[in-house]
Amino acid sequence: MTVVLEKSNIPKLTEALSRQYLVVDYEKDKTALSVKGYFLAPREKLFSFFSKTKKLSVRSSPKRKLLLFGLDLADIEALGQLDEIMTKPREDYFYLRKRRNSLIVGVVEHSITMPVATGDLILEKINPSQYRAVSLTKAGQEIVKNKFFKKEKNPEILIYPEEKSNLRELAQDSELLAEAVSWARVKNHPIWEKLEKICLGCGICAYVCPICHCFSMEDEIEIDGSASHRCRYWDACVLNNFSRVAGGKNFRPALKNRYFNWFYHKFVRAYKEYDNSQCVGCGRCQKYCPAEIDIEKVLSEIIRDYEKSLSAPTG
Ligand code: SF4
Ligand code: SF4
Repeated sequence: MTVVLEKSNIPKLTEALSRQYLVVDYEKDKTALSVKGYFLAPREKLFSFFSKTKKLSVRSSPKRKLLLFGLDLADIEALGQLDEIMTKPREDYFYLRKRRNSLIVGVVEHSITMPVATGDLILEKINPSQYRAVSLTKAGQEIVKNKFFKKEKNPEILIYPEEKSNLRELAQDSELLAEAVSWARVKNHPIWEKLEKICLGCGICAYVCPICHCFSMEDEIEIDGSASHRCRYWDACVLNNFSRVAGGKNFRPALKNRYFNWFYHKFVRAYKEYDNSQCVGCGRCQKYCPAEIDIEKVLSEIIRDYEKSLSAPTG
């Protein structure tokens, strides 16, 4: 038996779910930002200290769980990576608290060929009018009890191959990317200087990336001294102040080095630490870069030259 959902019932399902959950119908094409901001907010008060009572206070979680509906596979994969980053080597309490109070329902417009490791429920397109429900957790199983799902013995199951962009294909060869980006640093590849001339150092690429997770902390004190608040906000390694430390020393004053650091973290360090590049090829960074820097072209150029160097005669 296959559990299916009629496409035409999706709006009714989300409406029914919104009685129980805070439902966000995530539409990737309509927003620059990924869903990471629901768990790692652009700016948030983590906790407050009140001088009168000498008590620390952490904001309580909303009573209703958040349900993010409609993520595609790239965004689900990115969220899975972010979960791992926020869990290892140390748990990020504030991220995980929100994440544990959430459900993820993916809507995938092609056939799924690999097991999906993150999320609660995946709706996989099987024909023009139906999705197959794949529950990954108990919470997902609860959702499919909803009256809009039905069991069918032999639904029509068509194959819809995933139309992967070149960038998405590229992003999946983590080992090659780690080697090539590392090589490009050692060899002082001209691409870093070329990029330095056009990059504005605005940080948008990191903000829109579903996996970039660098942040800074700041304490805000009420003008009357009654309370202080520990705040966390998004930061980005391409920004000038990111590597500035107490006393004013900036370890990466040149944009070239900051820009390389972004690549190094994503493709080399991430591969060493997590066995993956921290890029799922979603394309947001190139779509929203005001300088029109195209990560696919950058990576392709680096890989092309790296592979040429491997086949070049030595000695
Ligand atoms: S979005 Fe573009 S211009 Fe801005 S820092 Fe990133 S690469 Fe540079
Ligand atoms: S394509 Fe760009 S925005 Fe998307 S995951 Fe990769 S680095 Fe991040």
